[in-house]
Amino acid sequence: MKPDTYDVIVVGAGTAGLPTAITAAERGANVALVEKTGEVGGTLHLTAGQMSAAGSKLQASKGIVDTPDSHFEDAMRISKNTSDPELVRLAVNIAADTLDWLTDLDFEFDPDCPMIFYGHEAYSVARTCWGIDGGRSILKVVRPLLDAAIESGNVDLMLSTEMTGILQDESGKITGLTVRGRDGDQTLSGPNVVLTTGGYASNAELFAEWTSGVPLFSTARESSTGTGILLGQKAGGVVRNGDKFLPTFGGIEIQGEPGRVDFNDLPNLTPQNRLPWEIYVNLKGERFVAEDHPSVDAREHALMAQPEMTFWIIYDDNARANSEPFIGGWLTEDTGWNADDIAKAFESHPSFQTAPSIELLAGKCALDASTLSATVSTYNEAVVSGTDPLGRSHMPTNIATAPFYGVKAHGIVLKSPGGLTVNTRLEVTDKAGAPISGLYAAGEAIGGATLSGQSFVGGMSVTPCLGFGRLLGREILQW
Ligand SMILES: Cc1cc2nc3c(=O)[nH]c(=O)nc-3n(C[C@H](O)[C@H](O)[C@H](O)COP(=O)(O)OP(=O)(O)OC[C@H]3O[C@@H](n4cnc5c(N)ncnc54)[C@H](O)[C@@H]3O)c2cc1C
Repeated sequence: MKPDTYDVIVVGAGTAGLPTAITAAERGANVALVEKTGEVGGTLHLTAGQMSAAGSKLQASKGIVDTPDSHFEDAMRISKNTSDPELVRLAVNIAADTLDWLTDLDFEFDPDCPMIFYGHEAYSVARTCWGIDGGRSILKVVRPLLDAAIESGNVDLMLSTEMTGILQDESGKITGLTVRGRDGDQTLSGPNVVLTTGGYASNAELFAEWTSGVPLFSTARESSTGTGILLGQKAGGVVRNGDKFLPTFGGIEIQGEPGRVDFNDLPNLTPQNRLPWEIYVNLKGERFVAEDHPSVDAREHALMAQPEMTFWIIYDDNARANSEPFIGGWLTEDTGWNADDIAKAFESHPSFQTAPSIELLAGKCALDASTLSATVSTYNEAVVSGTDPLGRSHMPTNIATAPFYGVKAHGIVLKSPGGLTVNTRLEVTDKAGAPISGLYAAGEAIGGATLSGQSFVGGMSVTPCLGFGRLLGREILQW
């Protein structure tokens, strides 16, 4: 007969929940791990799994000198001081220990790591790293630890079981949870509940409510619905940072799935990886940023200001024939996109349009024909003069050879910005700033912007998910 009283109840068996449950169990706690889907891993199945840590064994093995202070300064610089400095400090201080934990588990790092990665605003030191199979490499080394904890009887894993309520006594102290699983409704009792339920980047309604009506083009896991944050709020927690949103620069909608973007289909719009031959125009048909601007943060902020955060990537047949394709093969080896796939997309995918003239292309892309023609002419003049009004310097050739092409892209969401307010013990706090006794949160449930601010600070989601999870697992019974 399984117990229904636990030392620690962890809700959500994803990036943050797994290390929380494993570490608490390793310290002898009796843990319930509640997961609404039928499998463990959460966003680890999808994420690129980029991590960042200063002073790790990995950096030392490559002779890279780095410190948490430098990591902290970089993280605050990149977020322009819009993140929570106390939690960023905590995250960078434990990041190396987190990464070393993976190293000791024989984690398979990509051999080129650590590196300076330009897909997000760059750190000043090579401290970004990831596994050969993205987030799945993390799951590969963590899963056996979970299995051992289950085997030892310290973790009771409840799959296909959803938290439906948080129980508190009259003083607000946590007493347990209500859950709904295959066997119906159940109560789990215990003094400590950890919300590692992820974000809400697959919940368009909540996203619009907390992030000021920004349209949602999401790559997030469908389980990221925000229910854990909402229940935490109901228990007295406070949601913050929903407004600190910044899109990631450029994803293509999946055909037939409005608002959804496949991470593997992201176009390579990072000039440090591929210099652009194309121009980007907003829905008015106007360029809005130097396409080769070295700062992705600057490009993302420029995109944020465009109607519907949507733009068309415009190019001609000369660029198609002579430049490296800009979709496929840069983020992951097997994206399913090659030159033939791109050609096929122009036959059926509404985000891919081609026409024999710029005016006709404008019609197909629902852009104003005279504005797009003027935009292309101005760009072509800049190619000749060498001076671009937006400051672009890489202008290999004008856009003049038919047929012409347009690919529609959007500012996309990898993680949601808002989440529950926590203190540096990761206790969820109420309106007065006081901890709700026994209620903790980590991962995207505390808000992606809490550690990244209104920017994307590389690795500052996955690394603190793991680090804060381990910290909670170690400390929760002592606090
Ligand atoms: C495509 C993509 C690429 C990314 N790349 C990076 C990157 O390279 N580096 C980086 O730092 N960040 C990256 N991110 C963000 C980062 O991966 C996530 O923020 C992080 O993995 C979220 O972890 P989590 O533990 O908070 O949530 P998850 O890993 O999503 O886990 C939450 C779990 O809780 C479960 N759950 C939810 N509600 C309930 C409930 N009511 N009851 C029971 N269970 C529930 C869910 O089913 C899920 O299993 C990326 C995100 C995406 C989508």
